[in-house]
Amino acid sequence: MRLILLGAPGSGKGTIAKMLVEKYSIVQISTGDILRGAVAAGTPVGREAEAYMKRGDLVPDSVIMGIMEERLGEPDCAPGFILDGFPRTIPQAEALGGLLEKLSLKLDAVCNLDVPEEVIIKRLTGRRTCSNPSCQAIFNLDGKAPKKEGVCDSCGSPLVQRDDEKEDVVRSRLATYAGKTAPLIGFYDRKGLLMTVSGRESKPLFEEIVKKLGA
Ligand code: AMP
Repeated sequence: MRLILLGAPGSGKGTIAKMLVEKYSIVQISTGDILRGAVAAGTPVGREAEAYMKRGDLVPDSVIMGIMEERLGEPDCAPGFILDGFPRTIPQAEALGGLLEKLSLKLDAVCNLDVPEEVIIKRLTGRRTCSNPSCQAIFNLDGKAPKKEGVCDSCGSPLVQRDDEKEDVVRSRLATYAGKTAPLIGFYDRKGLLMTVSGRESKPLFEEIVKKLGA
């Protein structure tokens, strides 16, 4: 099974991808996670990406395609994969098409998560992450709040708000999504690959995707 998860930041792509990984025994490829890892490790890619990410801007397509060419060729991708947060622009989608053709692979579906904007803003601005790099537990003031304010339940380290989860940056990420990524909905619809699921919570959205995939 080879899938793309499309949806605004905070629509639940990461959570739903993890559920699909369990269900279909395939790997999740999150460009956001790969980039955050590169920033933390201080690699050349990380140093190039860091400023864009802090502002909530997209990292240049050339950097992303370099990462994806390498990642999709790795052996754990052979049984299938879920792309989470990639492609994010039409040029990335076109380059992905060329890359898959070169690897003789075909996509099964593109799942578009349609989640109301007010749910997304509340979810993203309420997120708090453990500052301990070896813990990184995630909490949410709207739902999964920590037992003690500002303190990680798992390891007791201070919780922080990621720079790109502050309200002004969240709004700019959503504007970038509307301008640069939302056109992919039409792009994949014209290829006959699009399925849209609508809702607020990740579990029912996941169940709807599984039903629509029929596998
Ligand atoms: P995410 O965790 O998917 O929301 O990604 C966090 C940040 O990483 C984004 O706001 C972008 O700055 C960058 N990023 C992740 N994936 C991509 C991509 N496919 N193209 C460009 N920038 C990306």
